[in-house]
Amino acid sequence: MRRLDKLYLGTNTKMYKTIADTCAFLSRLEELTEDIPKEELELFVIPSYTALDAAVRTVKDSKIKIGSQNMGWEDEGQFTGEISPVMLNEIGVDLVMIGHSERRHVMGETDQEEERKAAKALGSGFTALLCIGETLEEKNYGISDEVLRTQLKIGLHSIDGAQARKLWVAYEPVWAIGVNGIPADEHYADEKHWVIKKTLCELFGDETGSDIPVLYGGSVNPGNAELLIRMPNIDGLFIGRSAWEADHFNQIIRAVMPIWKEG
Ligand code: PEP
Repeated sequence: MRRLDKLYLGTNTKMYKTIADTCAFLSRLEELTEDIPKEELELFVIPSYTALDAAVRTVKDSKIKIGSQNMGWEDEGQFTGEISPVMLNEIGVDLVMIGHSERRHVMGETDQEEERKAAKALGSGFTALLCIGETLEEKNYGISDEVLRTQLKIGLHSIDGAQARKLWVAYEPVWAIGVNGIPADEHYADEKHWVIKKTLCELFGDETGSDIPVLYGGSVNPGNAELLIRMPNIDGLFIGRSAWEADHFNQIIRAVMPIWKEG
């Protein structure tokens, strides 16, 4: 698989930052990363819904992209509590995250629902970040590859090759995420990324499939970020806790950029 021409680094702030926290975080991150050319780094932050409008205004004219943590699959309708793509477009959000582990395993979302959301997000002009990953039980049964392939084949069932050009995938094993997570070993992560990339090539053809960025997420920290980014099939990192302080996030960015550049 060829290396992509940008490094992908981002964070999801889950349900932790207020509007004020988000704006302060983004301003500092922007200041710290100002010198990095946007041709080299795809830097993104996915804050809470309430902070999206202020977040988009804060990073205006910078390279930082703003994403939504979820999205409803209709433009409007009887969907109390959902946010529509029209509303996200109105704010000026760049990307939509779909199928985060907590949406799947805490809120009970299914692969079929992720498919509807992925199709709607891409059809509405957003970049879609589809998150996939196996549970510990599935890993122990030895069916991780089958689970990842199933999540991709159902989640992307109605996506065509042209739409796939705005697709990103995050491999986030459920057992690796959050305060009780155990980070995946870089070799295991790379092996799963290879399975994901092969599946994307099967779905969209080699040219388009191999251009879809595949990011690793799950307890990335200053101790394992460099090891992960050295792996040939890992195009970027999707980070939670270790990136929630702009200075800490910047330290990880500075540590991995030169490694990625060495190629
Ligand atoms: C996540 O929730 O997507 C995540 C990667 O979190 P953490 O890095 O904190 O495990």
